[in-house]
Amino acid sequence: MAEEKQFDIVIVGGGPGGLTAGLYGSRANLKTVMIEKYMPGGQIANTEEVEDYPGFEHISGAELAMKMTDHAKKFGLEILSDEIIEIRSDGDYKKVAVGASGTEYVGKAMVVCTGGSPVLLNVPGEKELTGKGVSYCAICDGAFFRDKIITVVGGGDAAVEEAMFLTKFGSKVILIHRRDELRAQKVIQERAFKNKKLEFIWDSVVEEVNGDSKVESLSLKNVKTGEVSTLETAACFVFIGFHPNTHILPKEIALNESGYVTTDYKMETSVPGIFVCGDIREQLVRQITNAVGDGTTAAMAAVYRIEEMED
Ligand code: NAP
Repeated sequence: MAEEKQFDIVIVGGGPGGLTAGLYGSRANLKTVMIEKYMPGGQIANTEEVEDYPGFEHISGAELAMKMTDHAKKFGLEILSDEIIEIRSDGDYKKVAVGASGTEYVGKAMVVCTGGSPVLLNVPGEKELTGKGVSYCAICDGAFFRDKIITVVGGGDAAVEEAMFLTKFGSKVILIHRRDELRAQKVIQERAFKNKKLEFIWDSVVEEVNGDSKVESLSLKNVKTGEVSTLETAACFVFIGFHPNTHILPKEIALNESGYVTTDYKMETSVPGIFVCGDIREQLVRQITNAVGDGTTAAMAAVYRIEEMED
């Protein structure tokens, strides 16, 4: 028989959305737990600089994550470390998060903020050379490629911002995009085009990552001309989007055509009592501010639901 731990609100995932939900749940005097596989903070813990969170012109992601964690803990949020492998709804009033440890975390309501995982290129050599030059995290791995030629794949905000960050390390950074126009916001593009260490290869895709024990080059194909070329590089950073982490959710929860969870205005999913917030949910933009707003709504909706059920 699995060990059961009882709470009012169980929050799965410890990014800004989860931490905010934790703050509001605990502040409403409900027994609230947040379960996180790694460190609290989620993606922001690996973000070098945040400059679009109101009230902070510049703050490191790690510091913001620490401030959010301390703040939620002051109101009584309990933070536990476990990997949740399954979420079930055992009726209206019992939501269960099953931990890899064997513990079942039972709540009257649940808030899921499990974010997303990077989209892979899915080309030969990518998997084999991950951690050996192929990376999905500039702040984690950039410093390994000091004074080397670094490549970045993608044309969205993440690719362009991370490419600029990587210019601190590389002798030069080459951004490879499959079209001749970036998707990134204009303000970010303008900064990128001014950066003298950043070069662009347009209309091109990576067909193979080459190297024996580490990345040595990329095989590129120009999608307009069909021309194939080899680009020597020590690193290939991939920022081509994210997949929402929905695999642990009950199958009854409705997703949109892109695989993101759909919710009502309360952040409630199609399974009553299970709420979601942040990058797992369909969003126009995926920002810290969105996740924080979602976390507030989800936690307060959970609080109101529990109060109504106990009246
Ligand atoms: P994104 O906006 O979806 O951009 C993905 C990029 O990768 C696109 O340029 C896309 O090309 C390219 N791409 C997709 N699949 C590819 C493939 N198989 N091969 C080559 N290229 C491929 O994703 P994101 O940059 O991760 O951003 C996600 C969200 O987070 C966005 O809403 C973004 O605004 C937000 N974000 C904001 C900030 C910020 O405001 N500071 C920072 C990071 C992220 P196409 O353009 O041709 O489709």
